[in-house]
Order: sequence, then structure tokens, then C-alpha cells
Amino acid sequence: MRAEIISIGTEILMGEILDTNAQYIAQRLPAMGIDLFYMHQIGDNRQRLVDLITQARGRSDVVLCTGGLGPTEDDITRDAIAESIGEQPYVVPELEAHLRNFFERRGGTMPEQNIKQATIIPSGQSIPNPRGTAPGWWVEKDHAIIVAMPGPPAEMTGMWSNDIAPRLAERSPDSVLISRTLKTTGLGESTLDEALGDIRAGEDPTVGVYHKADGVHVRLASKAVDEAAARARIEPVEAAIRDLLGDNIWGADEDTFQEAVARLLDRRGLSIAVMESCTGGLLASTITDVPGASQFFRGGLVTYTAEAKIHYGVDADVIEAHGVVSNETAAAMAAAVRRQFDADIGVGITGVAGPEPHGGQPVGAVCLGVETPDESYATGYTFAQTRAAIKARAVTSALTLIRRAAIGDLSSGSSGIYRRL
Ligand code: AMP
Ligand code: MG
Repeated sequence: MRAEIISIGTEILMGEILDTNAQYIAQRLPAMGIDLFYMHQIGDNRQRLVDLITQARGRSDVVLCTGGLGPTEDDITRDAIAESIGEQPYVVPELEAHLRNFFERRGGTMPEQNIKQATIIPSGQSIPNPRGTAPGWWVEKDHAIIVAMPGPPAEMTGMWSNDIAPRLAERSPDSVLISRTLKTTGLGESTLDEALGDIRAGEDPTVGVYHKADGVHVRLASKAVDEAAARARIEPVEAAIRDLLGDNIWGADEDTFQEAVARLLDRRGLSIAVMESCTGGLLASTITDVPGASQFFRGGLVTYTAEAKIHYGVDADVIEAHGVVSNETAAAMAAAVRRQFDADIGVGITGVAGPEPHGGQPVGAVCLGVETPDESYATGYTFAQTRAAIKARAVTSALTLIRRAAIGDLSSGSSGIYRRL
């Protein structure tokens, strides 16, 4: 079953609203075994919409429209569907009574232009909208289904789960698309892509490589008659990828990076403490998002000024000699906080979140230090981004180093300063 989505509204094209309806629907089609081939965004223009609907229903089994069901002049979805299939809308007395009743219950009378929300066409069925005035349409003509749902997301999603999804599930052939995502760190997108060479050659499962904030994700997807059959095809390929990537894989599917790092620390019985400057406590906050963090998280210090760093044990000479944003200072912060909290692993973060350069370093310069009982490692990055994004990337990079410290892989760092203690 092939589907396309049409999101209708000039507001979308003007960039005033984001088309979350299409995203919502698109996320739900694979598990229903429905292939999505096109997503369109189109303004409130009747002729262009008629043409698009005609094109879409000519090549797809289901055309899912949202928006343009309101009472005003520019709400043209119903008319465009009717024109595309050559039918004439007419008022349904029960729908009209329901609509008038809706307004009366709210102490008003129905504006006459709302009457178009009580219309239907011969090939259509009206779909109730308990959350608003605009019913949807389910239209079947010439082997194609055309669905019209209201634009407001709450109304659209309510109608989707109550009526549209169950109806589509009935029609969809017995196949499901199941996917498995393996999450990696330490390898670039293209390196990983290359490494997967032979494994990627097969048609099923398909193997996609995606760069994400928490590393590169490898997504395996298989289409089969049922979930078990799809998983059976995914499993051997997943095993081959795990063999190939080993420790570079930190989690799967819904796992978050902080959860994966937390599990690792917990399993190895390692405690941790952090000293943060430019991230202002975001690393501590992220670590403590994981339930049970008290098992391994000793505590954190936000030492925003050089004086605060010195006060909590960073050697003033190191800051003086190398600057407050330097690998040496980050390493000294890690050492100091490890001592302060008597933790196995200490972490230091110092950097420039912007928007102004600081301490002779450009915006986005971030230095991270990690110290374990045996090793010390510090390295620098430049994240050329907004303040919030710089902080977020610093935290992700710190979690990466914590993970490497926990698996004893600190010395493989290609840049930065590494010392055995
Ligand atoms: P409409 O029925 O097209 O007049 O849409 C009514 C309201 O629903 C709009 O003003 C938006 O706030 C919202 N809306 C419409 N289409 C979308 C969409 N594709 N994604 C998210 N919100 C939408
Ligand atoms: Mg609109």
C-alpha cells in the first residue's frame, strides 16, 4: 500500500507553522506496513490543490490530507477533493444539526459560512471530530482512498487514532516494517559507512547510516509478513555489525547516551564527579536524568570563574601558564574534583559558550579533561554553534570521554594530552 501526505495551508509555506502533522503521520505508517512515497506542502490555492490531489490519487493508494477544513474562504480542501474526483458536495442534515447544536451549546449561533463543515460527497463518509467543528472525510474513488483531516494537531491526532489508523490498518496488506537502530560513538559517518561495505550490500534489511547528536546511528529495517519474520532477518545482520564495531556500539533503539554511560559505570562499580565551567551544571544535570544515578554520581561543582576553580583545588599556576580554557586546565579540573569527591573518575569542562570570545579562545572552544586512578587525558574541540548547542555538544563529548575512561580506552585519543599516572 502506497501513501502520500499533503499538508495544506499557506501558513506552512510562509514558514509560520511547522508541519508537525506530516511528521506525526509519517512516523506511524511504517509499522502499519504502508509505504510513504511523497510528502507535500501546499498553500491554500484551489487549482494547485486540485492538480496535486489528482496526481497523488493517480499513483498512490492512499492520499492523506491535513488542514484546510475550516469555515473560511481559504479553507478549500473539501472543494478541491470534490473537484478532483468530479463530485458535488451537499449538506448532510444530521451533520448540520450536530454543528448548529455545537454552537448553541457554547451559547451562540452558527455562522452561515460554517455550513460547509456539514457537507459530504457521494463517494465520501464523514469522520467525527470530537475535538472541533470540522469533521474529516474518508473518500474512496477509483481504487484510491483520500482522507481529509483537520489542521489543528490535537484534532488531527485524535481523528487519526480513533478512526483513520484503524481503518487503514484493516486495508493494509499483511506486512510490517520493523527497524533496529544501533547507536555508535567514536567513528565518523563516512568511516562507518565504508566499514559497513559488504554488510550493506544486501537488500533486506536495508542499512542506513545517520549522523546524530549522540553519535552515528546505524538503522536496520526489514519489511516482512510479521514482526517475528522481520526480526529474524535483522538479527544476523545486527550480529555481524556488532562483531565489526564492538565497543563502538553503546546502545540501541530508545537508549539514551547518558543511560548507556550510567549502566556502564554502575556495572563496573565506578564512581564519578564533575567540575564544570562553560556547561554550568548541564553535565551533572544530564547524568542525574538517569534514575539511580546516586549509585555512581558523587557530585559536581560549577566553577565558573578562575577564582572558583582555584578555590576548589585547580593549581593557579596551571591557569596562569596555559589559560583558563586549555587542555591543561581541564585536566587539572578533573584531577581536583576527583580528589574533592574521592571519586574513581573526575571530569573537567572549560570552554567558551559565547557569544563573546573569552580567555584568548574563540566561541565554541571547549576543553575536556578526565582523570582515573591510572590515567589522565584532556582534549579540545571547537563547536561553532549557538550557546545552547555548544553546551549540549560539550556534554555529549564529556559523556564520550567518561565512557572511554570506564572501558579503559582513554589512551587511544588521537589528539590532546595523555598521561599515565
Ligand atoms: P487549517 O485547518 O488549515 O486552517 O489549520 C488550522 C490550524 O491548524 C493552523 O492555524 C495551524 O495552527 C494548525 N495546522 C494546520 N496544518 C498543520 C500542520 N500540517 N502541522 C501542524 N499544525 C497545523
Ligand atoms: Mg489553513
